[in-house]
Amino acid sequence: IFIFQGTALDSITRFATTSFFTTGSEDSCLSRNESVLYRKSSPYKPSSHLVSKLRSYEELHKRCGPHSDSYKRSIKQLKSGQINHNSSDCRYIVWVAGYGLGNRMLSITSAFLYGLLTDRVLLINQEYEMIGLFCEPFPNASWILPEDFPFKNKLRRFKQNYDHSFGKMVQSNTFDCSTELLPSYLYLFLSHDCSHHDQLFFCDQYQAPLSKVPWLIMRSNLYFVPSMFLMSSFDQELNKLFPDKETVFHHLGRYLFHPSDRVWGLITKYYQDHLARAEKRIGIQIRIFHAKTSPFEYVMDQILDCIRKEKLLPEVGTEKSIASSSNNQTSKVVLLTSLFRDYFEKLKKIYGEHPTKTGEVIAVYQPSHEGRQRTWSNSHNVQAWAEIYLLSLSDELVTTAWSTFGYVAQGLRGIRPLILYNQTTPNPPCGRGVSMEPCYLTPPTFDCKALTTTVDTGALVPHVRHCEDHIWGLKLF
Ligand code: GDP
Repeated sequence: IFIFQGTALDSITRFATTSFFTTGSEDSCLSRNESVLYRKSSPYKPSSHLVSKLRSYEELHKRCGPHSDSYKRSIKQLKSGQINHNSSDCRYIVWVAGYGLGNRMLSITSAFLYGLLTDRVLLINQEYEMIGLFCEPFPNASWILPEDFPFKNKLRRFKQNYDHSFGKMVQSNTFDCSTELLPSYLYLFLSHDCSHHDQLFFCDQYQAPLSKVPWLIMRSNLYFVPSMFLMSSFDQELNKLFPDKETVFHHLGRYLFHPSDRVWGLITKYYQDHLARAEKRIGIQIRIFHAKTSPFEYVMDQILDCIRKEKLLPEVGTEKSIASSSNNQTSKVVLLTSLFRDYFEKLKKIYGEHPTKTGEVIAVYQPSHEGRQRTWSNSHNVQAWAEIYLLSLSDELVTTAWSTFGYVAQGLRGIRPLILYNQTTPNPPCGRGVSMEPCYLTPPTFDCKALTTTVDTGALVPHVRHCEDHIWGLKLF
């Protein structure tokens, strides 16, 4: 069914047939085949082990996916509570949404990798606000959790202290590792505010009993992949899948996230109208977490300082003649994304009112300025996804520290970004990331053997270190 022409990357991202579902009303996925026209093919080739693992996963997903006989059997058992823990029946990981789109895309990717490593089928509990954002990633079987899933309407309200929560059960000593007493489903709460007990999920001793539980329901807003690289249960397989550690999100993100036709229409129109003709595209992502602690003047100075020090754009002069006398008319375009408009206006004014010293023409664009985050709004998320993707088409990328929106763009692009540090008047204003991987912002910090002792998890293995933008965070490099 699959084409294996072109680059090796094509083999993990492109199907030969269009007979897959989409999440919206569309029945095609134009971006899957047309993306090569817009973004450079990746210089990072997936390992043959990753390619064959994805093919086997697709088979598993087809066999166990929604509406399959195995799925129906598993739902029946879930309803009755009568589970044969040793059977070779299908097992699932259900992803439950929370937080912004960047957070969601990172946690979906982490859940998918956990599924790949543990032979679990990933199903997405899709709420209204995410409908129609992505094409279906897997051929011939949907990844959307069906509406008739037993407690579908309650999933969103699952809290940390839910009775079936793994962390709560471990804390109260009711997570009995002997197979007969394990429940038919467990809730994994792995968000940034999870507890020490929730984080015991990342300890090897719990993975064997967890593997016997047919349904895992996971809420997370984080890229928890680096912690999986610290687990002996997975490290050998991960090393085979990803000989180049900094490409995990790059490969899996490009494999999973294809814009739906609706989003693709926005992306391609914007690209053709504003970005296509430039010789160089520079993406600048400005994320203001708290307006009070990041006043406009400080952030604007930081951006301009970064542009100057990194020579991203030519300096402007005052002589009107400079531009016209120069033969050196190359064109650069800045794609600025932000919830706010002021940064764009300032930059546009600088390059609109003054000629550059080199004579280059600089255009500045901003696709939207939504004013505030509205994660529950479907059209807001459509716009956010289009902008993340547009950023990922840049030749150079400047991102904001701590922002998962930027992490997704850099990973899909496959670039180590210039990160605007999250401090008041930092010097230097920005710096090159050590890898294109996202940062796991709040990883566990304890030693799984002596459960209460804190260890420096950034010093345990050579390819996991602390993040440049978040000292407690962990990232692959
Ligand atoms: P993070 O909060 O920066 O880690 O990124 P998230 O993507 O998880 O959440 C921020 C959300 O705010 C995004 O998903 C968007 O809904 C919105 N948002 C933030 N920055 C932008 C932007 O530059 N453009 C658009 N369209 N939306 C943004």
